[in-house]
Amino acid sequence: MNTFSSARVKLTIWYTLVLAMISVGLSSLYYLRTLQIIEMQYHQLNRRLSGQPGQMRVPRQSPQEWTLPENHQEILLSEFNSIRSELFQKILTINLLIIVAGAGGSFILSGKTLQPIKLALDKQKQFVTDAAHELKTPLTALQTSIEVNLMDKKNNQDTKRVLKENLEDVVRLNSLTGRLLKLSHTEENGQSGNRKVIDLLMISELALKKMKPVASKKNIKLNIDTGPYKNIKVFGDEESLLEAIIILLDNAIKYSQKNSNIILKTSQQKRMGIVEVSDQGIGIAKKDIDKIFDRFYQSDTSRQKKFDKQTGGYGLGLALAKQIVENHGGKIEVDSQLGKGSVFRIKLALKTAEE
Ligand code: ADP
Repeated sequence: MNTFSSARVKLTIWYTLVLAMISVGLSSLYYLRTLQIIEMQYHQLNRRLSGQPGQMRVPRQSPQEWTLPENHQEILLSEFNSIRSELFQKILTINLLIIVAGAGGSFILSGKTLQPIKLALDKQKQFVTDAAHELKTPLTALQTSIEVNLMDKKNNQDTKRVLKENLEDVVRLNSLTGRLLKLSHTEENGQSGNRKVIDLLMISELALKKMKPVASKKNIKLNIDTGPYKNIKVFGDEESLLEAIIILLDNAIKYSQKNSNIILKTSQQKRMGIVEVSDQGIGIAKKDIDKIFDRFYQSDTSRQKKFDKQTGGYGLGLALAKQIVENHGGKIEVDSQLGKGSVFRIKLALKTAEE
């Protein structure tokens, strides 16, 4: 379910809940008041039938406690009870109808309420995508020309140093625009893509192979733990899932000190295939845990402890990883302790043989 649909459902539930409370509240008042009137009439009638002088005051006791000639009491009581239960049933039916109709109306209304917000959000996303698209070509051209200039022997060392710094910035900007484009592409395409049966172990090993050189630059040991499960099959787009695992490994390396350990673990549990990345890095504060999957969010700790300029990201990696996993109907979770390390977990439904 996308953000818009889940917000619509939540809003519908709230609208319906408020409506139900008002309806049930008013109906209860109406029911009690009507019951009081009927009770009053019952008592008057009762008194008349039992030959007592008519008093207008309604006694507090319940009708069952009145002593009347037997046949009168039975008739009156059964009349009273049937009116009461009929009234109750009618009010219940009306309330149910109000709630059902209210839920339908609320769904339409919440759609209308959220429509302008959705349009504004879509426009904003489109703007970001267009801007990234426009920037991509000149940035690539700039990168190529800096690289060419760097190789030019006519440039002295000082010029080359400046060019190198420029190149680093351009490469980072280029990767930012690439991520933005990838993110909007992933959001737009949803469940589509080149889907097939994938071996989770195989793509985990592929991701590990790709990231080993990056980890070795910080002398980090990157190992895989496959446990007893050798055949974990899921259904999805191999390229995207590989990217999601790489994002987790890349972060684990980025936010870990030199000479530490990172473990990539594959397993299965309750019809779920699981890929887990554990690190001994800086960890994430409790207040940041819910926000790290938002676009452009970076925790203060990670900003302060950015190990070098090149490792600094833009806060888009986890947003992309989450979108990829959700497009596959899966879940991404995190357990972390500040200063001790983090465990990121991707859970995907297993592809069974008969599917
Ligand atoms: P970034 O490009 O900044 O890494 P991400 O979206 O990948 O962006 O991550 C968002 C934030 O989550 C990071 O800035 C960092 O604060 C935190 N984070 C992600 N992975 C880890 C990790 N393994 N250890 C500690 N912090 C992490």
